[in-house]
Amino acid sequence: MSDAIIDLHAHSRASDGSETPAEVIAQAHAAGIDTIALTDHDTLSGWSQAREAAQHFGVGFIPGIELSTQVLDETTGYEPHSIHLLGYLVDPEHPDLVDEMVKIRSHRDNRLQMMVDKLAADYPIDWLEVRAVIPEGATPGRPHIAEVLIAKGIVADTTEAFSHILAGDGPYHVPHYAPRLQRGIDIIRRAGGVPVLAHPLSRGGNPATDVSGEHDEAIARYQRWVDHGLMGVEIGHRENDPGLTPQLEDVARELGLIVTGSSDYHGSKKPNVLGEHRTSSTHLQRIIDAGVGSSPLLAARG
Ligand code: AMP
Ligand code: ZN
Ligand code: FE
Ligand code: FE
Repeated sequence: MSDAIIDLHAHSRASDGSETPAEVIAQAHAAGIDTIALTDHDTLSGWSQAREAAQHFGVGFIPGIELSTQVLDETTGYEPHSIHLLGYLVDPEHPDLVDEMVKIRSHRDNRLQMMVDKLAADYPIDWLEVRAVIPEGATPGRPHIAEVLIAKGIVADTTEAFSHILAGDGPYHVPHYAPRLQRGIDIIRRAGGVPVLAHPLSRGGNPATDVSGEHDEAIARYQRWVDHGLMGVEIGHRENDPGLTPQLEDVARELGLIVTGSSDYHGSKKPNVLGEHRTSSTHLQRIIDAGVGSSPLLAARG
């Protein structure tokens, strides 16, 4: 029981992962994972295939989402910062959630097209080529542009593509609509789900989730999100600054938050390995107890 391997953050071809949902589950089974969550960006379309495969392999399955949200930094003229919010066990038919996902995906589609149009001034690439690699109905993302850049030999891999050409602060970047974090939390709660901040200490941090200053400031910052309905934080994640995770652990303990650790697996689209960070069975149980919008598939073991 206590050593069950639990990984609650993975992507499939329903968004920007390289494998079908069934392949992700098969890989999880092969890697000895006891329970896996599928958390594609802004869509739940991989759930049914993943659940069926999980049943087949006897792997525990937690249906989830990674919702794109943002915070506006009042101290810098409302500069937007992207924040990813994991939501577990949401009701897939809740109209507020369905409407928000449709809206984000539609803006992501236009935004990706705008990025490709900017890129086309300097690189031999066009939108039809990128559109062709986005699986039908999948949430479009920058890794889909990376796939075409790799196929053309312009970059060696997705990581290289993100280091410059696709970088968030690079010359070709175009932002996309996302609801504000408090709205994202609220929608996931209304849909009966469990909202957990994804990699809150990644990429130099974010003013809304920073823990580098005074302890009391960090507590106040997170207390605000807890008051909005936040239930957990993803502390085990390769992009979280390891120098700051002890401070976030203190915040989580003091505020009684659920704590997760996960791989953020994307198949071949990212180097992240299934199970490289894990969640304890105690904290998985808290998610299962709190999530009432959909049902988990419990693992045969652990
Ligand atoms: P987008 O959602 O279109 O803004 O693209 C961001 C997504 O690309 C993130 O969710 C990551 O999964 C992926 N990503 C970001 N940085 C990298 C990187 N350095 N290497 C590979 N994938 C990345
Ligand atoms: Zn992704
Ligand atoms: Fe993310
Ligand atoms: Fe992710």
